[in-house]
Amino acid sequence: MRYYLLLSVFVLSIWTCANDSKPVENKGESSKDVVAQEEVVEVQDTFTPDAVSDYNATPVVDPITLPFDYDTTQWTDVGLIEPTIVMDLKYATEDNFVETKMYDCARCFLRPLVAERIIDIHYHLREKGYGLKMFDCYRPGPIQWALWEKVPDPRYVADPRKGSMHNRGGAVDLTLVDSEGNELDMGTPFDFFGRRAYHEYQDHTKEVLSNRKLLKETMEAFGFKAIRTEWWHYSYVAKSYALDDMVWECE
Ligand SMILES: [Zn+2]
Repeated sequence: MRYYLLLSVFVLSIWTCANDSKPVENKGESSKDVVAQEEVVEVQDTFTPDAVSDYNATPVVDPITLPFDYDTTQWTDVGLIEPTIVMDLKYATEDNFVETKMYDCARCFLRPLVAERIIDIHYHLREKGYGLKMFDCYRPGPIQWALWEKVPDPRYVADPRKGSMHNRGGAVDLTLVDSEGNELDMGTPFDFFGRRAYHEYQDHTKEVLSNRKLLKETMEAFGFKAIRTEWWHYSYVAKSYALDDMVWECE
């Protein structure tokens, strides 16, 4: 049944592409993605809400037993809703390119529709023996300013006045894990700035190329768009969101 529904969705995707695509500018990626900003993104929402909820129901959270400490009309805490997604949020540690802990605690917030797609992808991958690990999700406006003050160089950090899809809650940095939570080999670490992180760079092992292909094809099938220069970054392009300053609570 699920395969049938998935097939239907792909057929719908092809149909939608032919009939209802519209170009949308890929706004303000972090500037390591400068080239990506110049590309015109073909946008189509390949999934109807009905198809998604039939295909893969998101686990139900009882608001009485689990009170939320954020505005659920604007945000979803992905790790709270789906704890089997591995969280390795690098900006909540010193293991990042500014070598500074930027988030007070590690929580992966996304816009509700984007989060729903990510959880769908995770369930889809689990049927194949894989899963998702998140490196970064929504990045609050104030954190973008703090990053910019540390590294005021648009090659590495997006100007906060313009912001990036991360500042809008519509982008993710992520990788694949196996059934035991071990990262698959993608050829470079997260936030490796250089050609070996580009999708077009082919001088990797077959295993690396195959892992990247699985991630890219899966993300694209669920409405996300890659950028040329970072194998880990995907933006949900079917809907645009405003920049936001929400900073999540930490216990
Ligand atoms: Zn990113």
